[in-house]
Amino acid sequence: KKLSGQALRRAYKQFFADRGHSIFPSASLVPHDDPTLLWINAGMTPLKSYFDGREIPENPRIVSSQKCIRTNDIENVGHTARHQTFFEMLGNFSFGDYFKQEAITWAWTFLTDVLEMDPSRLSVTIYEDDDEAFQIWHEQVGLPENRIYRGKEDNFWEIGLGPCGPDSEIFYDRGEVFGCHQADCQPGCDCDRYLEIWNLVFTQFNKEANGEYTPLPKKNIDTGCGLERLASVLQDVPNNFETDLFFPIIQATGDIAGRAYGDDPAADIHFKIVADHLRTVAFAISDGVLPGNEGRSYIIRRLLRRAVRSGRRLGIEAPFMYRLVAVVDDIMGADYPELHEKRSLIERVVKTEEERFHETLSEGEALLFDWMEGLKQQGSQVIGGADAFRLYDTYGFPIDLTIEIASESGFTVDRDGFDAELANQRARARAARQANEGMSSQRGVLETFTEASTFVGYDQFTVDARVIG
Ligand code: ATP
Ligand code: MG
Ligand code: MG
Ligand code: MG
Repeated sequence: KKLSGQALRRAYKQFFADRGHSIFPSASLVPHDDPTLLWINAGMTPLKSYFDGREIPENPRIVSSQKCIRTNDIENVGHTARHQTFFEMLGNFSFGDYFKQEAITWAWTFLTDVLEMDPSRLSVTIYEDDDEAFQIWHEQVGLPENRIYRGKEDNFWEIGLGPCGPDSEIFYDRGEVFGCHQADCQPGCDCDRYLEIWNLVFTQFNKEANGEYTPLPKKNIDTGCGLERLASVLQDVPNNFETDLFFPIIQATGDIAGRAYGDDPAADIHFKIVADHLRTVAFAISDGVLPGNEGRSYIIRRLLRRAVRSGRRLGIEAPFMYRLVAVVDDIMGADYPELHEKRSLIERVVKTEEERFHETLSEGEALLFDWMEGLKQQGSQVIGGADAFRLYDTYGFPIDLTIEIASESGFTVDRDGFDAELANQRARARAARQANEGMSSQRGVLETFTEASTFVGYDQFTVDARVIG
């Protein structure tokens, strides 16, 4: 059945609303009471307090399409068919109400009846000793035994202590052409053949401090289904970026660049990066995060700059991303009103940030090429940490941008040296801030647009900067 992304999103919510679920609007991408988390990265994260029992929901059944950011997937963007930094996770949740039986059979009914997916292409994984899940898949759903795979780590969901449990992931076989052709390729393989579309988590244990798993008195269901992946299957396109949730952005980029997507696989990666990062940046800004030098703000700056660079690879030399914001709004604004309402703010912020970056990018790149020329003559292939830091500090080059440009000429970067310089600067800045307490900070022009995003601490910043780098 061919359905638009928007129709799919709505069909999912309706299906579960018809089964007693309350429709929750997506929470902000910025976690509001969870200092351990930079971004909301799953449908369940804004509902954590229901899972661990701190709060009781009015209705124990909830359905949502949640905006998610996963910077840990950044390296995959454009390279796999299925990963983005921003995506929508459809999810149905039960808090002490229904359990495995309904979660599994409803998922199956939705995919095969409502969406009319070919059942013979579907397979699942379950936790190795979850015989209950096996029974339901095999006997009630009728899935043949050879399409039920038993796994271990990948099929047990836990974060530290607290509620946890086995899960069952549903895969769609897109056919051998998408596969890695290895003998052991099966659902769960990293290639794009078996597309993981839906993860059903059965939260039935509590992990105690002594390492024991005790059964929870109230078992929960937490599911997550990637909207863009679902759309790629239903629209019969080879990757998420060719669905109607992305493609108009790619086409508009092509119009600006004066070249078409699909002509050159290397260029297509950049089309995808632009489209992905733009969505992330636009949604983050609509949730109050502005480009800046710390925490979430830094990630947004980084993503925007990365996309600008991809734009340059496509031959776009002038600010252009801001012109694509309208396209994102056209695609998603109806279901995410905050995006529509903040559209002109987003355009302004993106444009200002692009202009700032363009000014320094050419200068910084020229400098870097100069250095590499000189180093080559000395027989070295390594950019020093202090030089990389100068690019970062004076020219706004995130370290991974420097690494990326350097590696294109066969150079590496002294990462430890860079980190040491960065740590020094942070210490100096901290000392200066303490000395200047009370004075208004002037850290970035953009911070004057509206409130600055929450500062999340140096440790976390470093972790995320690494992940992204
Ligand atoms: P994968 O193994 O493909 O990386 P995952 O196991 O990390 O996916 P989950 O954490 O189980 O994903 O999230 C639930 C669902 O959200 C996935 O089944 C998938 O449909 C979707 N999803 C996860 N990560 C992404 C992403 N980076 N981009 C788009 N969709 C995603
Ligand atoms: Mg993943
Ligand atoms: Mg997975
Ligand atoms: Mg999964």
